[in-house]
Amino acid sequence: MAEIQLRNVGKRWGSFVGVDNFDLTIADKEFLVLLGPSGCGKTTTMRMIAGLEDATEGDILIDGKRVNDMEPKDRDVAMVFQSYALYPNMNVYENIRFPLKVRGIDPKTHDEKVRRASAMVELDDFLHRKPAELSGGQRQRVALARAIVREPNVFLMDEPLSNLDAKLRVSTRAQIKNLSHELAVTTIYVTHDQIEAMTLADRVVVMKQGIVQQVGSPTEIYDTPANTFVASFIGNPAMNLVSGRMENGSFVAENVRIEGLTAADGPVTLGFRAEDAGLGDAGHHEITAPIYTLELLGDATMVTVRIGGELIAVRAPKDFRSEIGDTVSLSVPAGICHLFDARTGERLG
Ligand code: ATP
Repeated sequence: MAEIQLRNVGKRWGSFVGVDNFDLTIADKEFLVLLGPSGCGKTTTMRMIAGLEDATEGDILIDGKRVNDMEPKDRDVAMVFQSYALYPNMNVYENIRFPLKVRGIDPKTHDEKVRRASAMVELDDFLHRKPAELSGGQRQRVALARAIVREPNVFLMDEPLSNLDAKLRVSTRAQIKNLSHELAVTTIYVTHDQIEAMTLADRVVVMKQGIVQQVGSPTEIYDTPANTFVASFIGNPAMNLVSGRMENGSFVAENVRIEGLTAADGPVTLGFRAEDAGLGDAGHHEITAPIYTLELLGDATMVTVRIGGELIAVRAPKDFRSEIGDTVSLSVPAGICHLFDARTGERLG
């Protein structure tokens, strides 16, 4: 059982704020993903939980006990880093066993624990190999097994997939998801990859410049982004954003008119997702604009048009045929639209 509470946790170096006022309770067995661009404070947050970095403000509690002043080794958390940090002169078996030795766990139990952990990450056949004789994906699995073997209360994972090639990332991601289901241990996972966040998380924390922007399930973050930063960070492609103004219940911009929206008159930012919009049908042609580019995706065609200085992507059927420069009409009914404050970027309504 390990519930983690972060109470107004902050990290400052002089006047620079790395993490500001982070306030969240992470439930026992929850898989929480910290997501955001480089430098937003994800790693610092995790290092404070691990005890590798002091929090300069706030309290960190694990199972109700304040751990701010507790040594990392006493916190019962296991970390997996992007650099696997394996011992090159030890074979896989010894690498996985190492944490048990360090912690003084009864040697009689080591063999069974090492074999169980290595089986979970499918390394049984590689136990005699040195790290140099393994692929990147296998090394990362050794690092995972080394974390699992300790049976910690909390897993902290810092971009564990970032050194793997695209295909291996997908399969290792699936393995982590499966493992986390099997082990049911509270996990905090740091990434800048929104697909990893969406696929792995029970809840996602989106961060920007040390400040939490939104906390929610992947569906909540995707369907109701709290601001334009979250809207443009989540989804592939990111949500289309158009600057314009509200006039009597309609959103209006160059070559755009969408009726039936509720917001006060004045400047706003409109958002909609490529897959929610479509090519104009009989009833709907809210945007009329020239095609900027066409991309075949296999199962669909991504059509990008330019309105003013903004590029807007729409998913069209795979057999859609047209040319760059042709003018098309897009169907963007009010029901698929999100509205954001033009100045602050905050979601309206
Ligand atoms: P990345 O994805 O690039 O690892 P991150 O979101 O994990 O980024 P952090 O490593 O948490 O970001 O860093 C947050 C901010 O704190 C960055 O702007 C970084 O430059 C700054 N920072 C980190 N360590 C220190 C330090 N020891 N002294 C001063 N500033 C630091």
